[in-house]
Amino acid sequence: MKKLLFLLSTVLLLSPAVSQAQTAAPDPSRITLVIHGGAGTITRALMTPEKEKAYQQVLDQALQAGYAILKKGGTSLDAVEATVRVMEDSPLFNAGKGAVFTHEGRNEMDAAIMEGQTLKAGSVAGVTVIRNPITAARAVMEKSEHVMMVGPGAETFAKEKGLEIVPAQYFYTEARHQQLQKALQEEKTAGTPDQLNAPTKAAEAPKKVKMKMKAGKAQGSLPENNIFTEGKKYGTVGAVALDQFGNLAAATSTGGMTNKRYGRVGDAPIIGAGTYADNNSCAVSCTGWGEYFIRATVARDVAARVEYQQKPLAQAAQATIDKVGKMGGDGGLIALDRQGNLAMPFNSEGMYRGFIKADGKSQILIYKD
Ligand code: ASP
Repeated sequence: MKKLLFLLSTVLLLSPAVSQAQTAAPDPSRITLVIHGGAGTITRALMTPEKEKAYQQVLDQALQAGYAILKKGGTSLDAVEATVRVMEDSPLFNAGKGAVFTHEGRNEMDAAIMEGQTLKAGSVAGVTVIRNPITAARAVMEKSEHVMMVGPGAETFAKEKGLEIVPAQYFYTEARHQQLQKALQEEKTAGTPDQLNAPTKAAEAPKKVKMKMKAGKAQGSLPENNIFTEGKKYGTVGAVALDQFGNLAAATSTGGMTNKRYGRVGDAPIIGAGTYADNNSCAVSCTGWGEYFIRATVARDVAARVEYQQKPLAQAAQATIDKVGKMGGDGGLIALDRQGNLAMPFNSEGMYRGFIKADGKSQILIYKD
């Protein structure tokens, strides 16, 4: 008996992380949902009242969809999936129906989902016919032994699991197509910048434009008309949620970046880069210049600051965005911890974002001020 007790206490002592991450007693007053619909050059000057209203409407619908699930005792995982699906189905955001076009004129989408209690995760990349990539990411997490599936393989898997498949043309929107034409035209005039992952080289390019960002600490400058600086609108969508059981979840979905090439995959489907959730720290979903977010492992970086440095969430999130800014990247993120603290920092000019709390009070924000 003594031996057994000793063994038991040793096991408990050795696994503090696991015990912390366990489901807590239900408490409906803690439910929280935070969303984003992308960061970038989003200013009042570039907005019309009609456009602003349209964005606000879909962001509100997305919040309400997730809130309804959390309110009736559903899980954070169900909430983030439902929330992201609303934004995927809207042509306004760069995810699902509104996905941007690749250089070849295709729509190739990436998505990821993660559960904070179990650290289970699923993601898909480069998919072209799955109506809701976020649901495919969840299927990978729950119905396969893998974490990430790409391209035709992911699509075969989604078909096998009975997910909704649509013709590739479903993702065509005139506005995104025009955006690609503009990018192609500008590329023709400016030459083909080959600086997808080389900020130092970019700094040496002959035609330069200074990075204008709040953090303002970008090293060097970026080439004008770089395929990623064109338009500078990252319309990726994401959600993080806390349910009444104290469990966190995160989800992100995107069409990537206009004019992307060669099977390029961004940060969104990479666990720890664009998406991360751990009950021991926080849930994070990102939007921005994916190459930088991958290299800075942004989502995990925020979680690590919270977990290892015991930083308050807002400080951790801001420090990571500042780090991205110093590297020369831009964008933003949403983060949420188990106490219901939330953060929505960004170093671009705006970020579609919002949150809703247990009492049903919500807020939707677009601009910096
Ligand atoms: N982060 C996304 C990517 O690089 C783009 C976005 O946020 O819209 O694929």
